[in-house]
Amino acid sequence: MAIVTPIETPPGARRRLSLANPATLEPIGEIEVQTEDDAKAAVEVARKAQREWGTLSFADRARVMQRALRILLDRQDDFIDVVLRETGKTRSEALMMEIFATCDSLNFYSKNAAKILKTQKLKLHGLMRLMKQARITYRPLGVVGVISPWNGPLILSMNPSVQALMAGNAVVLKPSEVTPFSGKMVAELFEQAGLPDGLFRVLTGDGETGAALTRAGVDKISFTGSVATGRKVAVACAEQLIPCTLELGGKDAMIVCADSDLDNAAGGAVAGSFMNTGHYCCGTERVYVVDDIASEFTDKVVERVSKLRQGAEGEFDVGAIFWPNQLDVIEDHMSDAIAKGAKVACGGRRNPDLVGLFYEPTVITDVTHDMKIMTEETFGPILAIMRVRDEEHAIEMANDSPYGLGGNVWTRDKQRGIEIAERIESGSVCVNDMTMTYGIQEAPFGGRKNSGVGQVNGETGLRGYCHAEPIIVDRMGGKQAAKMYPASRKQDDGMQKFMRMLWGTSLGRRLG
Ligand code: NAD
Repeated sequence: MAIVTPIETPPGARRRLSLANPATLEPIGEIEVQTEDDAKAAVEVARKAQREWGTLSFADRARVMQRALRILLDRQDDFIDVVLRETGKTRSEALMMEIFATCDSLNFYSKNAAKILKTQKLKLHGLMRLMKQARITYRPLGVVGVISPWNGPLILSMNPSVQALMAGNAVVLKPSEVTPFSGKMVAELFEQAGLPDGLFRVLTGDGETGAALTRAGVDKISFTGSVATGRKVAVACAEQLIPCTLELGGKDAMIVCADSDLDNAAGGAVAGSFMNTGHYCCGTERVYVVDDIASEFTDKVVERVSKLRQGAEGEFDVGAIFWPNQLDVIEDHMSDAIAKGAKVACGGRRNPDLVGLFYEPTVITDVTHDMKIMTEETFGPILAIMRVRDEEHAIEMANDSPYGLGGNVWTRDKQRGIEIAERIESGSVCVNDMTMTYGIQEAPFGGRKNSGVGQVNGETGLRGYCHAEPIIVDRMGGKQAAKMYPASRKQDDGMQKFMRMLWGTSLGRRLG
C-alpha cells in the first residue's frame, strides 16, 4: 500500500489523503478524493471522445497500444519505482507481475482484438439457413468504469483498460486509494502513446469515489477487489441495469498428492503463498497434503521458508504488507488459529528488525476448518498446512469453502491431476503450477461462489466489453413478413403439418 491517512480539511473542502511507503514509512504524496460531480464530468468527457474512437479500425487502436508497449519497455524502471514506493513489494515481483504482464496484455490484445472481435457470419441450422442470413457484430459498449485494488496496481488497472479500449470503449479508471500513483502513471502512459484526449480518465479517491463512478452513467463496471465491495458494486449495477464483471477474493487450495515430486510441490507451495507478500487473489492459502508424505513435505517447506529474506531495500524475497488493514486481518487470523490449537512452524509475528509493515514468512500446521485461517481470505505471507487421509479427503476439504477462485494440484500423474482439477469447485485450477491463470491471456479468468461473477481475459473477456449484436437478413427481401396477416386457420393447419414433417420423422429431425 501505502499507509493512507486522512488529512484535516476545512468544512466544505474536498477530502484529501496522505500516503506513506509501507516498507519505509516515508511519505510519498497526497491525493484528493474526487466527488460525484468529478465522476460524472469524467464520464461525459470520455463519452464524447469515445464516439470517434469507436469508429476507428482495430489497426488504428492497436497502433496506440503498441506505442504504449514501447514506452512502458523504455520507462519500466520509472513504473517499477512508483509501484515499489506504494506497495513495498519486491523488485522482481513488480517486474514480473506488473511490467511483464502488462507488456504481454498490451501486445496480446493489440495483436488479437481484430481476430476475436471481427464480424462473424453465423451458419444457421436446418431450413432456417434457406430463409435467413445472420452475422454478429461486436459493438463497443461506450464508457467502461474500471475499479481496481491495491495488490497489483499496474496490471489490474491496465489489463481491463487495454481490453476495453481495444474493443472501442472509453475508460474511466478508479485505482485503489492505497495505490493511486500507479493509476496516474497509466494515464500518463496512454497520453504519451497518443490516446485521444479524454478517452482515458483517472479518478483518485477511496470508496466514495468508486461508488460515485458506479453511478456516473457508465455502460459497464469492471471491478476487481473484495467480496464485500463487490456486492455493493453489483447492487449499484443491478439498480441501473448495467453489466459488471466482479473479480473478487479467494482462498485457493493446494492439493499435494501422495505421488507428487515433493521438492517441486514444496517450492510451488512457497511460491504460491509468499509471492507478492501473499497479497495475491489466487495465491495459495490452504495446503492439503496426504498423510503419508505430510511430514516430509512440511519439513521441506519449512526449510525453504526459513531461508526467505525479507526487506525494504536491495535484494530480498518477501516484501512489506501493503497496508495496515491487512496486517490486522493477518494477526487476527493467526491468533484465532493459535488459540484453537494450530502450531507455528516458523515466523508467526511482525518482523522486529524492520521499521515498516512486515510480517515474517510463516508456516502454520495442525489447522482445521474451524479456524478463520482456513475459511476466510487472509491475504498475507502465511502458508497453512493441513494433513488429509487421501486425495478424496483433500478434494472434499478444498471444496469446503465459500470461495472458488483458483487452486492447484501436485502429482506426477498428469491425467490424474487433470481429473482432480475437474472436481475442484473453482474458477480455474493449475496442475504442478500455481497462480498462472491470470497470466495466460487466452484463458478466461473469473471466480465461482463468492469469488466473482463473469470472466475477464481471452475471447470471453474481450467480448465482454462489447455488445454482441446479431444482424438478421431475410433472403427473400421480406416476402415472408409481408404474408403474416391476415392470420388464418388454413395457414395454422399448414404450419402444424410442416412441424410434424420436420420434427416428427427421423429424416426431418436430421435436416431440421
Ligand atoms: P476493496 O474492495 O477494498 O477495494 C477495491 C476498489 O474498490 C478500490 O479502488 C476501492 O477504493 C473501491 N471501492 C471501495 N468501496 C467502493 C464502493 N462502495 N463502490 C465502488 N468502489 C469501491 O479491495 P482491496 O482491498 O483494494 O483489494 C483486495 C481484494 O481484491 C482481495 O479480496 C483480493 O482477493 C481481491 N482481488 C481479486 C482479484 C481477482 O481477479 N479475482 C485480483 C486482485 C485482487
